[in-house]
Amino acid sequence: MEIRKIGVIGAGAMGSGIAHVCALAGYDVALVDAKRAFAEAAIEVIRGNMERQVRRQRITGDAMTAALARIEVVDGPGEMADCDCVIEAATEDEAVKKEIFARLTETLKPEAIVCSSTSSIPITRLAAATDRPEKFMGMHFMNPVPVMKLVELIRGLATDGETFETVRDLAVKLEKVPANAEDFPAFIVNRILLPMVNEAVYALYEGVGTVDSIDTAMKLGANHPMGPLELADFIGLDICYSVMQVLYDGLADTKYRPCPLLAKYVEAGWLGRKTGRGFYDYAGDEPVPTR
Ligand code: NAD
Repeated sequence: MEIRKIGVIGAGAMGSGIAHVCALAGYDVALVDAKRAFAEAAIEVIRGNMERQVRRQRITGDAMTAALARIEVVDGPGEMADCDCVIEAATEDEAVKKEIFARLTETLKPEAIVCSSTSSIPITRLAAATDRPEKFMGMHFMNPVPVMKLVELIRGLATDGETFETVRDLAVKLEKVPANAEDFPAFIVNRILLPMVNEAVYALYEGVGTVDSIDTAMKLGANHPMGPLELADFIGLDICYSVMQVLYDGLADTKYRPCPLLAKYVEAGWLGRKTGRGFYDYAGDEPVPTR
């Protein structure tokens, strides 16, 4: 199936990045958020990010102008009737997503594919709530989308072969590298990465090391570009906690128990970079370890 026009629902961190890479790859894009002003603000974010790519000579000024001209802001999912594929990247809330799919599929042409970028909601369950489970699958991009090469592709139980191949081809045209994951909690990257982060918090909690010694050990000893606690602050401690909770609930194995110290930080509102404090304090020029 040929894809020409892509709908993107949700214009936050992920949706704006997805619209960005789709437009640069030559697709027409219809972008929607809960309020028109949010989607319009996202266009300015995309413009700023593309300007950075031009300065770094990753793309030309002409490519940027052409890409921005391909993105159109629309007022609701009901205005995506002529899209060949719609990628949903709205808030991680099952009720919100189901409501979006209900409104979308009232008008969306029957042959169009629907994808969700959810990090934790089972694809099969979302698919079952639509009129086209065989044309539904997961397309889990990484943040920031224009920079990160990976896309996890997740089939639901009913996803048909043509849909899967079309979405895999789309991922390649977006210059991403697809990795297939089965529909299990947190897929592959978060299933492996977040327990490592959680273990680092346990090491801190049990006094095995300080913030600095744990991050230094993993950077220099395992060649990780960021220490696990620095990474936790970058991801957001609330997100880390909720992924662990999804693994713990979904796999019913105590090895996924979120560290009590992680829960405490979330309760304190110390969520990492976005709130100015997590395992590091970001008030000054340089992040300062807090433990
Ligand atoms: P975000 O909060 O930055 O953006 C979500 C956007 O959805 C907001 O702009 C919000 O206004 C909009 N929205 C809410 N309800 C809506 C509705 N009814 N219709 C249209 N838009 C609506 O969130 P995000 O980080 O971009 O995450 C979006 C999705 O991508 C989630 O499912 C998340 O699990 C997934 N995801 C996030 C990351 C990440 O690192 N941030 C990585 C991979 C996948």
